[in-house]
Amino acid sequence: VSQYDHQPPHPTQCDHSGAVRWIDLPVLAVDTETTRADSETCSIVELGACWAKGGLSSLDGAERLGTLIDPGITIPAESTEIHGIRDQDVIGKPALGDIVPDFMARVSQAGLIVGYNVRGFDGPILGRLIGPDWARAMQDRPMLDALDVVRLNTVGRFWRGQGRHKLTSVAERLGLEWVSNGAHRASADAQMSLQVLRRFANRLPECARCANEWLALASRQERVRFEAYIEKQKAKEEEAA
Ligand SMILES: [Zn+2]
Repeated sequence: VSQYDHQPPHPTQCDHSGAVRWIDLPVLAVDTETTRADSETCSIVELGACWAKGGLSSLDGAERLGTLIDPGITIPAESTEIHGIRDQDVIGKPALGDIVPDFMARVSQAGLIVGYNVRGFDGPILGRLIGPDWARAMQDRPMLDALDVVRLNTVGRFWRGQGRHKLTSVAERLGLEWVSNGAHRASADAQMSLQVLRRFANRLPECARCANEWLALASRQERVRFEAYIEKQKAKEEEAA
């Protein structure tokens, strides 16, 4: 897959005692559909998950879990356009608080949390709306964001192109198949994030702790490089103007 042939080197040696491979850990992928695109102010209208007890290597038996949630406010039309969830779909559905205990019970069974933009979007939303229980659960659990992996491995990764890392575009380029009910429903997106991550499995350290730490560090460094690049481009454009 030539678009993703940029492969930053990652550590292959590991000092962690009793190191476990992240690909073997029981994994929970999470995804939210929301009332707005702003993670700091949105409410959740669907909480989806995909649970693979046997880890990423055995996705065939993965269980998809999705719950529509009544956000208690009107869903703006521009959000319905993205995920297709309307006010009448969520009336009478549980509030987020009603399903949090079950959801957190599932989180506590997982050895690894995955998602697509989970570090930048879904994770912060769940942290804000669930509170300390979420933060505590994330303290000792590796979280691998498939979007981070995609970004790091994209050739010409700073090139402009609106939406080039969108999950639908990435899935298409990788030739991955959507489960029924398709993109932009939470459990389907969660399932796809597992497929994407599995495709890039050899681009990460095998050890779960190493993968977690390396991906977080590499993504932070990438962000810094990206911002420096944008600054430089801006300066160039101003010079030319
Ligand atoms: Zn390690």
